[in-house]
Amino acid sequence: MLTAAQARPSALLPVYPPFPVRPASGHGSWLVDENGDEWLDAYGGHAVASTGHSHPDVVRAISAQAERLLFYSTAVPHPLREDLAWKLASLCPEPLGRVFFCNSGAEANENALHLARKHTGRQGIVSVAGGWHGRTVATLAVTDGQRYEEGARRAGMPLSRKVAFDDVGALEAVVDETVAAVIVEPVQGLAGARDCAPEFLQAARRVCHAHGAALIFDEVQCGVGRCGAFSAAAAYGVTPDVLTFAKGLAAGLPIGAVVATPEITSRIAVGDLGSTFGGGPLVMAAALANIGVIEREGLIENAVRVGEYLARGAHALGITRVSGRGLLLGLHLDRPAAEVQRALFARRILTGTAADPRVLRLLPPLSFSFPEADLLLAALKEVLA
Ligand code: PMP
Repeated sequence: MLTAAQARPSALLPVYPPFPVRPASGHGSWLVDENGDEWLDAYGGHAVASTGHSHPDVVRAISAQAERLLFYSTAVPHPLREDLAWKLASLCPEPLGRVFFCNSGAEANENALHLARKHTGRQGIVSVAGGWHGRTVATLAVTDGQRYEEGARRAGMPLSRKVAFDDVGALEAVVDETVAAVIVEPVQGLAGARDCAPEFLQAARRVCHAHGAALIFDEVQCGVGRCGAFSAAAAYGVTPDVLTFAKGLAAGLPIGAVVATPEITSRIAVGDLGSTFGGGPLVMAAALANIGVIEREGLIENAVRVGEYLARGAHALGITRVSGRGLLLGLHLDRPAAEVQRALFARRILTGTAADPRVLRLLPPLSFSFPEADLLLAALKEVLA
């Protein structure tokens, strides 16, 4: 029997290619569909469910805050906003310590680019081939891919200059005194969990210093404990001038965060930045509770251990190349990843694909367990046989 909602045509515009599951609830790494069947989520709700689905501590914090006060904008101070800003400052490498809250990854990157342009008085941006930074006009202009660049071009936004992945020479050749910022995902997500070489990020740091440009790390997908430390910046030991977080920060409530140095934000005055919903108390409560779970349950260490276990297990299945770090992994297959993804769907397991059609992307909750990794590996073994 179709429900009324299923029987009528959808009024929604299409966005992402849809997964064949209709989740009714979730817990940990699992979704429960409308028939009561369980699905293993190695896609982590789009890299958002860092502490798993509906972690009880996060749910309790959200409920308690909702009872007290759902919302007021940054027109009023709120202790949870101050607390989360301090928490992020303490978790990011020094001198990153000035925080602005907004509502999404693209909005965080948009503001990061704005900070860099305002600070330097320059316009140019350098980005990396394969980089993905959002769907606002300014972030489309720095995202790699024809359809994205066309969107920016149609809106009259100048495109970034792209350098090849890990190409230090190209970076050195292109960054000059016209460049406001270099924007990099330390571990590229959509490109296929491609981890930059440490030497490339070190070179980006050096070149930006030399020419007075800002270095922006887009950690929307790879940050919040996914890649070996709370920030990928700390995992790599390279400190940018601006760092952005989003997806995994508030366990599913919309958030974006820009964490920047005092120097790059020194010209920011009241009215330069803003966002009605950014920094609202409900989202702040969720993010603080979520980070509390990550710390108490040792989820960053878990992500490293389970990530290594998955990579070893994948190698044992004959997958010769596994890219990425922690629990943002790209399995480089000998066949189209979409086929493998479909075969895993049939076994009620969710995984991601990537811009590289042969890469299967794994981005499960940071709480993904060894037995859950075994289930995924056993299913992969069947599918690849
Ligand atoms: N940057 C990266 C690295 C991302 O993966 C994404 C989302 N896929 C974004 C930015 C944009 O985030 P949002 O969809 O929250 O705007």
